[in-house]
Amino acid sequence: MFVFVCAGCGARLTAPLFQVALPVHAHQKYGNGLQLPVLMESGTYAVEPEPWGPPWRRWEEIDPDEAAARGIHAPVFALSDAEPGAVVIAPGDTRGTVLIPEKGGGYCCGLDGADGPNMACEACGLPVASRIDDCSLWQAVWLAPNAVRRRRVDAVGAAPLSWAELTAEAKGTPPFEPITRWGSPSGPNQWWSWSPQWEAAAGRALAHLLVASEGRPVTVPGGLITEMFQRALDALLPAGPPARGAVLAGPGLPAPERDADILLVPVHPRTGETWAPVDPVASAYPVPLPFGVWLWLAFSQPHLPVPASGVMPDGVLRDDPPAPRPRYLFRVDREVFQHTLVRLSAVRSPWLRDILANVTQFMYVGLF
Ligand SMILES: [Zn+2]
Ligand SMILES: [Zn+2]
Repeated sequence: MFVFVCAGCGARLTAPLFQVALPVHAHQKYGNGLQLPVLMESGTYAVEPEPWGPPWRRWEEIDPDEAAARGIHAPVFALSDAEPGAVVIAPGDTRGTVLIPEKGGGYCCGLDGADGPNMACEACGLPVASRIDDCSLWQAVWLAPNAVRRRRVDAVGAAPLSWAELTAEAKGTPPFEPITRWGSPSGPNQWWSWSPQWEAAAGRALAHLLVASEGRPVTVPGGLITEMFQRALDALLPAGPPARGAVLAGPGLPAPERDADILLVPVHPRTGETWAPVDPVASAYPVPLPFGVWLWLAFSQPHLPVPASGVMPDGVLRDDPPAPRPRYLFRVDREVFQHTLVRLSAVRSPWLRDILANVTQFMYVGLF
């Protein structure tokens, strides 16, 4: 495990932590005025390899060659000029820091870090991190990469679980969850929503599905995967040519057919590695899903939408009414979709550039 210390004075700034993959929803902005949970599990940290956060530079000020060198292949609103390598942790894992009250910019229901680091080392006053807890953002502390140093404390948690161990032990991410606002004059206001994590997962996966489609229709397996993707795939891809098929594949599932076109596979939550079959289907395109979402899709039995006929068998007491469903159709996270697509070199092809240019139009019809 590691701790992070202040680059100025060496004071310890975190609890012992081990590294995990950066969640796909790390930078998600969800809804309006909503309360999102803490991003990172306590005891873990993740690294954002790209620059992120202020200062930002608008696309008009950026040379396309510079953007391409940074792995951005299509226009974006702005790019960050911050130092790459920010470290994100759970707020409860910080030690020895104080807030910098003058850096509370962007304030709505909480802090959003728009003014740069808003937390200082308690010992020497060096600005070391940004606490983010504003509405519609995942609560986190982002350590500034040039203001902290990583120090190993022991070898605990060094070896990540194997895929088989993960599949046996990990918990799936439920597709629906109750969501609420940060304080409302009318009192608690809670409703059932699609999981923000599922919407972010779909944003990244949809970008890959479009590239994998090669401009042909794509079909996905029935059930929740259809609700997640089919509406967007049908709207964004042409109807004419023969369809390519996407199937779920991964640990504990039968090996995919040799003629599978597209595989929906899990990403290892510790290493960030995308699962690949032992005997790789050379031509199949792997589409990454966060492990918890993949696990739910692969192994969870959905509640039946209507009760089966007849009565409950003798001796069975029902104590698990189905979770209420959201009242609206699934929407793909637009920003995660755009973020992923502009980083795939295939986006240079005109038909994908067109989709990117028309994203707002698809928002009006509720795809995003
Ligand atoms: Zn310090
Ligand atoms: Zn707010």
